[in-house]
Amino acid sequence: MSNLTLKDLYTKFRDPATIKALAKEIHKLADKLDEPMRVMEICGGHTHTIMKYGIKQLMPENIEFIHGPGCPVCVMPKERIDHAITLAKQPGVILTTLGDMIRVPGSKSSLAKTRADGYDIRPLHSTFDVLNIAKKNPDKKVIFFAIGFETTTPMTAALMKRAFNEGIKNIYYHINHVLTPPPMRAIMDSGEARINAFIAPSHVSVIIGAKSYQFLVDEYNTPVVVAGFEPVDVMESILMLVKQKLQNYPRVENQYKRAATWDGNVLAQQMTEEFMEIRDTFRWRGLGDIPKSALKLKDKYAQFDAEKIYANVLPNEHIDDHKLCICGKILKGLAKPTDCKVFGTACTPSSPLGSCMVSDEGACNAYYRYAR
Ligand code: SF4
Ligand code: SF4
Repeated sequence: MSNLTLKDLYTKFRDPATIKALAKEIHKLADKLDEPMRVMEICGGHTHTIMKYGIKQLMPENIEFIHGPGCPVCVMPKERIDHAITLAKQPGVILTTLGDMIRVPGSKSSLAKTRADGYDIRPLHSTFDVLNIAKKNPDKKVIFFAIGFETTTPMTAALMKRAFNEGIKNIYYHINHVLTPPPMRAIMDSGEARINAFIAPSHVSVIIGAKSYQFLVDEYNTPVVVAGFEPVDVMESILMLVKQKLQNYPRVENQYKRAATWDGNVLAQQMTEEFMEIRDTFRWRGLGDIPKSALKLKDKYAQFDAEKIYANVLPNEHIDDHKLCICGKILKGLAKPTDCKVFGTACTPSSPLGSCMVSDEGACNAYYRYAR
């Protein structure tokens, strides 16, 4: 029997000597760059690695990290949170959702406060917990408020499949699943953030495959490296990007070969396609309306679509962020959390004013933990 522990698996990806050697090589080669590199890491997990392991400080002056819109909680506009709160208040409803969503402020309240007011809102440890809640409460409508990028979308599809297979008819879905490539395109089209290299997400790429970023090379001449989550992964990915720049040969490379492939997880993609299709447009916090950037249930599942069933009570108007919150600028790569006047004072993880402070994957949350 193997004595391999979890620690054995990640130790080499956190090895200080390897990190230092990579930093030395990056500095040596970055000297030859003819323009500064503005590298966007889309994924909130990468933002945390960069802040937690001091990777930002290990970079030469001409390489800057720009934190992107890769936290599903951060990019959800307030009106969608208001949808969840409104749904939770409907008679006979149990509202379920994953993780940090419960603490994100909507226009007037949050799910956590609404729950404290006596409404039945249940945070989930696993998507499949919804099945048990529905079985135990056959007289209730159990609504799953589904959020997340391509990583969590197949879980929602799997939940639907199991619910149908088991003949459970009282689960309804409010779909807020968003797609990664469209905001990358929107950021490049706007040009404001002047991004000239991308670190692509780990988990998302396992599902959608490295091929999904080829458009950044073809249309924007921008190098991309799919990177793992650990500090050695991020350092090696930066080195690969620097080399691409020096070779003047932008391409999509995959540093995270131990989990991500060129085509991704085709079975997961097919399961998602069975139940969901692309929306014409979706409003992102900070980035505004982005065409074809999110999913919805297919029409044939309309009888389980909470967005359709409750369309007459769900608020529609766009709601601005708190006037002091600059989450929108941060998500566009135009500001850093420390540029916000209330960072770490009026806004902290225990009392967040904006969504970027709520989730572990949010940039403000990462700066609060590791860079105050
Ligand atoms: S891989 Fe995880 S951390 Fe990264 S964007 Fe996706 S959900 Fe966020
Ligand atoms: S610190 Fe708080 S208020 Fe400021 S941008 Fe971040 S989330 Fe918004």
